[in-house]
This record gives sequence, structure tokens and C-alpha cells, in this order.
Amino acid sequence: MTLAAEPLLTALAAVVGTDRVLTDPADLTPYETDWRGHFKGKALCAVLPGSTAEVAEIVRLCAEAGVAVIPQGGRTGLVGGGVPNDAGTAVVLNLARMNKVRSLDPMAMTIAVDAGITLAAARQHAATAQLNLPILIGSEGSAQIGGVIGTNAGGSNVLRYGMTRNLVMGLEVVLPDGRIWNGMRALTKDNTGYALRHLFIGSEGTLGIVTGAVLQLAPEPQRTTTAFCPVVDISSALSLLDSLRRAHFDALVAFEYISAATVALIAKYRPELASTLSVTTETGDCLLIEFAHMRASEEADAAIETDLGNAFEHGWITDALIASSETQRKAMWAFREAISFAQNDAGYSVKNDVSVPVARIPDLLSEATAAVAAVTPVAQPICYGHLGDGNIHFNFSPATPEISGELRTLEPAIVAALNGVVQSLDGSFSAEHGIGQAKVETLAKFRAGMELELMRAIKTLLDPDNRMNPGKVV
Ligand SMILES: Cc1cc2nc3c(=O)[nH]c(=O)nc-3n(C[C@H](O)[C@H](O)[C@H](O)COP(=O)(O)OP(=O)(O)OC[C@H]3O[C@@H](n4cnc5c(N)ncnc54)[C@H](O)[C@@H]3O)c2cc1C
Repeated sequence: MTLAAEPLLTALAAVVGTDRVLTDPADLTPYETDWRGHFKGKALCAVLPGSTAEVAEIVRLCAEAGVAVIPQGGRTGLVGGGVPNDAGTAVVLNLARMNKVRSLDPMAMTIAVDAGITLAAARQHAATAQLNLPILIGSEGSAQIGGVIGTNAGGSNVLRYGMTRNLVMGLEVVLPDGRIWNGMRALTKDNTGYALRHLFIGSEGTLGIVTGAVLQLAPEPQRTTTAFCPVVDISSALSLLDSLRRAHFDALVAFEYISAATVALIAKYRPELASTLSVTTETGDCLLIEFAHMRASEEADAAIETDLGNAFEHGWITDALIASSETQRKAMWAFREAISFAQNDAGYSVKNDVSVPVARIPDLLSEATAAVAAVTPVAQPICYGHLGDGNIHFNFSPATPEISGELRTLEPAIVAALNGVVQSLDGSFSAEHGIGQAKVETLAKFRAGMELELMRAIKTLLDPDNRMNPGKVV
């Protein structure tokens, strides 16, 4: 710690209390890394404020001292956005103590929360009023609403409810100079100039610190129907998606694709999960489809069974297993969620999160597979994801764990080949996970020109001294 840092630490302690300014390495280290330990940095301290006023005062003091602030939530982000660089001079501002529900309006179906509340806690509170906060991500127990908004998180219900952005009605934000913008309005209709909240959603803590949010809720579904279907090929999968969306638009909440190679990987490394669904390494491409009904009656199931029967007649699917119990439904999702673990078992993996217009998914799969095969024969495509959103996790595993090192060395060339194809299909190299510190150069390459200039102009307008999460996004 430099001598110049001491007055700032003293001033911060005066705001939040000495024990909430963490400088001891044993206390500080967890705040200097992400959940997976992929990104590591060094901070001057981590500060744990308990109110919006405290956040504003901390940011003001840091601005006065010319010190960078790193907004941080549950540290589950996948691109290092909440991790400081290794200079050891920045202040990490973690909102975990700001975890209250401010209000719930059952008639408007809205909830107002502090930004440090976890997604799981906010969802649980909504459920007490038979309402659903329909953001479904695997990290909900740790991810905070501020982080979910900061990353504009997606997840497996986007098909029905949209990205986080679609559910944010109002925001409270501490700006880089310490002023508080109160935009906690809960209005469905509000055409009063620029929709400022949308600037902050997905800005990954580079424009300000979200301290509160009003979120749109939905009625809690009364009944869920879940089906697991081996599908003939990707074109058949899209035909089925199209027909189910037209017939069940309001109910279809998830349409997940798992490629044949991915199915085989799970069957190899997690055979106990595969056998519950009668899946083997030879099964081929599979779909996990879920419907959420607002009525408890079984009528909807009959219509879905008929539609899946028709899909079988059309030759799109070769089988359809409809969950007959919550246990079976969980087994289907456990199979889907085992992919990351199976990939870990298979050695080093190259992970990507890309999107293209839905109709271009077959082109993406064939063209990117060919482009990467031209780079190296050792990268085995492991493709799966939210097909209904055009979002594919286009990952690569080594053919055998022993050649992991080779795959790691080739990662930049593999990712460049994939991103080139994504760009040619008018897609996005980062569908859900954002830019953080991991993809800053990629953003500069693929959004170069006016788009990047506008982003940088907005950043400069709000944060002229580049103190709010510097080195991230732009
Ligand atoms: C197992 C697992 C599954 C996941 N599944 C999905 C998925 O399906 N879809 C998906 O989109 N993501 C997914 N993620 C990524 C991650 O969980 C989400 O991006 C999550 O929204 C991040 O929340 P967090 O509180 O952990 O944020 P952090 O990781 O702490 O921060 C993420 C970014 O948000 C900023 N930030 C944090 N808090 C604030 C705030 N209060 N104000 C302003 N900026 C802030 C940070 O500076 C950083 O740039 C997954 C992650 C894991 C580990």
C-alpha cells in the first residue's frame, strides 16, 4: 500500500466502518478473483457498503483521490468483468450487504430490490406472491441482481421472457462522479426522452453502479411439461421449433439443443445421467424442450403429445420422452447441465458463446466446424445451447485429454476462425456473457468504426476520467 492510499482508506472506513474495508490479504483475496479462479487481480481494498448513500460517498471519495472503482456482485461473471487488474490500486465495491427487497406490487407484478440481493433470493421472494422472476441461470445462488443487470444475463427462459433487459423497468444508479440517478419507476409506458436505464443494463459496471432495480414479474406457472427428444438433424430441430412456437407461443419457455458429439461426451463421462434417459454415445443430436402453463389442467399435455407425434410422423424426431414426474424432469435438466462437467473431464476446453439469426444455425454449425477443422484436427466441436434464441455455446474439446496442451496453444486461432464465420452470418461473438476483460480486443475488432466510437463517446461522457471499471468493455 502506498502512503497516498492511507487517507483514502481512512475516509472509506469512516463511511462504512473499519471492518468493512478489507485490506488483509486473507480477507481481500476472494474479492480479487472470479468464482472459477480464471481471472486474478490485485486491489487496494474491497469495500462493503450497506446503502446507496454509502455507495455514492465511496465513489465520490475515490473520484477525489483519482482511484478506480470496480463494481462487483457475486463474481460469477464469465469474462472477468468484476475482477480488478493487477495494479493493486483500485477499490473493489461489492454490494453483498445491500440485499433487501424494497417492495413488491402484486397488482403490477413488479418487485423493487437492492442490487446486492442474489437472484435466487429475489426469485424466492417473488414466489411468496405466486409470481415468477423469470431469469433462470445456473449461478442464481451467488449472482446478484446488480451483476445480472450489469451483464444483461440470459439463461434458459429467454425464448419466452427475453433477456434481463426486457424485465428491467427502473434503475437506481450511482454515477462515476458520485451523483445518484433515481430512475426507480415501475411504468410499463414511459416515453419521456432517452431510455437511460438501457445504457446501464449490460454495461458491465463501466458507466455506473446499479444500486437498486424495479423488475417485471410474471405469474408463476401452474404446470410444466418437459420433453427430451433425439432429433434427426439440426434442420429438423428448427422445423420442430417453428411448429411448436406457432402452436404454443405463450407456453414454450425452453428449446435447448445438444449436438451428437456433446451427447456422446456426456454419455461417456456421465453414464449414470445418460442411462436415466436411455441415451448412449450413438444417440445423436437431442433436444430438451419445456413448456410452462398458466393452468394446472392436463389438457395442454395432450396437445403437446399430438404435436410431438406429428414431429415423429414428419421424420423430425426419432423419439420423445415426456417427463412423467418432477424427478424425471430434473434428470433431463441434469443431463443438460452436465455438459460443462463432462467437458472438464475431457481435458482443456475452448469455450465460446455465439449467436446468429436462428435460421442460420445450420450454416453456423457446418461452416464453423469446417473453418476450425482447417486450423486443426485436434479440436472436437462440442455444440449446445439455447437454439430458440439462436445462441450456441460453440465449444471445443480435445479428442483425448492428453492433447489438451495443443488445444490450448491453438485457442486464439480456433476462436478467430469461429468468430470469422459468426461475423459473416451477421452474428455476435458474445451472446450472453459480455465483454469484461476477456473480449475487449475482440469487441474492438468486430464492432470497429462508428459503433465502437459511439460506445467510447458514451463512456467518456459519463466517466471522463475512466475510473469506473477501467480496462473493461471499451
Ligand atoms: C454456473 C454458471 C452458470 C451461468 N449461466 C449463465 C447463463 O445461463 N446466462 C448468462 O447470461 N450468464 C450465465 N452465467 C454468467 C453469470 O452468472 C452472469 O453473468 C451473472 O449475471 C453475473 O452476476 P454476478 O453478480 O456474479 O456479477 P459479477 O461477476 O460480480 O460481475 C459481472 C459484471 O457486472 C458488473 N457488476 C456487478 N455488480 C454490479 C452493479 N451493482 N452495478 C453495475 N455493475 C455491476 C461487474 O463489474 C462485472 O463487469 C453463468 C455463470 C455461472 C458460474
